[in-house]
Amino acid sequence: MIPSEAELQLLFAHLNLRHFRGEVPDCRIAYNARFSNAAGRITYTKYPLLIELSPKHFAKYPEALEETLLHEMIHAWCYAKWRDTGHGVHFKRKMRECGLRSIYHDLGNVRPLNESSKRYILRCEQCAFEVLRRKRPGKPASCPRCDKRGFNPAFPLTIYEITGLDAVGDTLGGRRAAQRGER
Ligand SMILES: [Zn+2]
Ligand SMILES: [Zn+2]
Repeated sequence: MIPSEAELQLLFAHLNLRHFRGEVPDCRIAYNARFSNAAGRITYTKYPLLIELSPKHFAKYPEALEETLLHEMIHAWCYAKWRDTGHGVHFKRKMRECGLRSIYHDLGNVRPLNESSKRYILRCEQCAFEVLRRKRPGKPASCPRCDKRGFNPAFPLTIYEITGLDAVGDTLGGRRAAQRGER
């Protein structure tokens, strides 16, 4: 069971007091069932600011909900203070203060990463299938969704190495944050 939107609003108020001394501006917290690849998103062009969360993602990873909400709240806070919408210095400093280890909140089908551990994402550029691996794959791999029968070189997987916070944001298209908020 995922929390109701009213419960999310309470959690927001609670986190706002605990981590921001109440400085996060009013936000409306809502679920958006259409998110396929995103866990959360903030839209800056609405008042109050709109934070949307993926019900599918959190039905699967309920433990990630608070971190994702907190992540979006840091965006709202940075925006209110500096009109800063990215994962820059302000964001990262606050993130560490709040005890978040990773900005990795965008892929609905993989778990948050630990900042210090090196890991890999294998991604099919054709269907956007993604899987997280601890090690670099030793033998050729292809997309299990595009060809379910087995290895097929027509559907290669791109290997992304996650080495730090910036690498993750950039590789996965963090640029959209400026206009539309988080993916
Ligand atoms: Zn594929
Ligand atoms: Zn973000």
